[in-house]
Amino acid sequence: MLITYEEFARRAAAVRVQIAAACAHAGRDPRDVELLAVTKTHPAAAADYAARFGLRAVGENRVQEAVDKRPQSTAAIAWELIGHLQSNKAKLAAQHFDRVQSVDSEKLLNHLDRAAAELGKVLPVLLQFNAGHDPAKFGAEPAAASRLLEVALMKKHLRLDGLMTIAPLGATPAETAEHAVRTFANLRTLRDELAARTGTPLRELSMGMTGDLALAVAAGSTIVRVGTALFGSRDGAPP
Ligand SMILES: *Cc1c(COP(=O)(O)O)cnc(C)c1O
Repeated sequence: MLITYEEFARRAAAVRVQIAAACAHAGRDPRDVELLAVTKTHPAAAADYAARFGLRAVGENRVQEAVDKRPQSTAAIAWELIGHLQSNKAKLAAQHFDRVQSVDSEKLLNHLDRAAAELGKVLPVLLQFNAGHDPAKFGAEPAAASRLLEVALMKKHLRLDGLMTIAPLGATPAETAEHAVRTFANLRTLRDELAARTGTPLRELSMGMTGDLALAVAAGSTIVRVGTALFGSRDGAPP
């Protein structure tokens, strides 16, 4: 069950306050941190809520779910893929998403570029890195970053906007926070190095979710991907 719009608006305002507080603490401008509403598992109306609140985009982690839901939404809002993408779904993803944040291999870059070319469009992408060295997480290894970046920058039908990561969970909240701090600092450093070396801005750093968004903003995040804090828990239990 989707919460009401009023409840959503209260929650979204509270997340905005949280982002603003983290920005104030870090000496950053809150306008430099975008709130991406993660609508996965929720009905298409969740995207309508996000649009009505004035958000620019929603995030989905499965291609097919977005393909099914997008036509049901009347909202003028961008849809971004934040979940793992298999190369055999690259064409579908290029067709139905406005940006793909989860590009983690050369093979995927090749497939997406070819698909975008066939569609006659330029597809914005982020490169996803396993910056926390989490064995359970997708994302390219930071050691492969130079090569991946080089390939991405050669693609005429892809526009590389920046980098994305997901922090690994720990056994305790303290350990999870430690992982988050380390992971986000790693991605930031990687971005700064790659940007300096290639002269490409790589402006976007997509990092931070409901549980770790303040830590991500402190580390320089420009896109926080928030689901639970906006829509409640995804398993139907009270948030
Ligand atoms: C589900 C998901 C999120 C949102 O997680 P919450 O903890 O609900 O805010 C963010 N990023 C990715 C990649 C996700 O799959």
